[in-house]
Amino acid sequence: MDVFSSPDFDHHEQVVMASDAETGLKAIIAIHSTHRGPALGGCRMWAYASETEAVRDALRLSRGMSYKSSLAGLPLGGGKSVIIGDARTTKTPALMEAMGRAVERLAGRYVVAEDVGTNTEDMASIRKHTRHVSGVLPEQGGSGDPSPATAWGVFNGLKQAVKHKLKTDSLEGVHVAVQGLGHVGYYLAEHLHKAGARLTVTDIRPENLERAVQELGATAIDPDRIYGVDAEVFAPCALGAVVNDSTLPQFRFKIIAGAANNQLAEARHGFILLERGVLYTPDYALNAGGVINVGYEYISGPNGYDRDKAWAHINRIPDTIARIFALADAEGIPTSLAADRLAEEGLGKTAPTGTSKAA
Ligand code: NAD
Repeated sequence: MDVFSSPDFDHHEQVVMASDAETGLKAIIAIHSTHRGPALGGCRMWAYASETEAVRDALRLSRGMSYKSSLAGLPLGGGKSVIIGDARTTKTPALMEAMGRAVERLAGRYVVAEDVGTNTEDMASIRKHTRHVSGVLPEQGGSGDPSPATAWGVFNGLKQAVKHKLKTDSLEGVHVAVQGLGHVGYYLAEHLHKAGARLTVTDIRPENLERAVQELGATAIDPDRIYGVDAEVFAPCALGAVVNDSTLPQFRFKIIAGAANNQLAEARHGFILLERGVLYTPDYALNAGGVINVGYEYISGPNGYDRDKAWAHINRIPDTIARIFALADAEGIPTSLAADRLAEEGLGKTAPTGTSKAA
């Protein structure tokens, strides 16, 4: 793989290949930018098909974190790490401790948190060797599960989008199609229900659907029917790339606002949404609640996490969304591009080609 010339490399400050013979650790730690502060980003453990794929993923996700933290106005840079291996079969506390030693060697330039394949227990193992870790359990002075914070930010950002497009402050009677009722999606659905929205929901797990029907009076439908629902708002909270050439023709939505990362399959889909008059709420601006929460835990130092301060910052997500919409309207550009431009302003470099890919 040609690393320096790959589009995802985008002038990464540092990329480290970390290994440990005893535990079998094979990890890549990518630091895209420390311009705004320490590069915070999750540690993903995944059975990558090749080392090239792992490097590519680390670079892509790390760059995305720079954009997300910049747009959220956090004093944090962008980084990410990946461990090559199956989290269910090859993860051990010793392996995570070895990861902690690798993070410590970077002396605070990279701050690790949880991601797909890692959890709060793993962060506790890492913490034995470095203080540059965030997202530990509340009983250990940490901020715990980021999902409620993410869902709260998404809910308020969604309301901002409704205000912009439908010219109303109220969600009473607004029909929202929610895809994915997992950690974030269910909390979001609860907020929407309390605000009077009408819910149509889908998930591949029947028990999640059943709960939403019982508790929230939602209408449940099969996963492949969600794209054609005649709802004002589509809230993708499951998968990436859900705005693509095969889903777009089915859309009757006026607004897209959900938690999932990388919702646009390609940057050009942002232009198609603009042409079709669908207001896209850029994913990485909307779902920043989790990184804001975990960022405050790190910034505050051990045992200093202050939920009120973190949530006050999360409550500013609608302002960021409003800035994105205003720039997009003024320039006649897709909201995805407007978000990238605003993020790049905070990265202290000449604007690169743009991304709509944050994690
Ligand atoms: P999760 O795994 O808890 O929930 C995902 C849900 O989607 C599950 O209930 C799953 O059954 C369902 N699902 C999977 N495939 C589906 C399909 N084809 N159709 C319908 N439903 C499907 O994950 P989460 O933590 O709730 O995160 C949801 C999304 O938000 C992810 O894209 C994640 O990257 C993003 N995100 C999460 C956070 C966070 O704080 N957890 C922060 C930022 C972004």
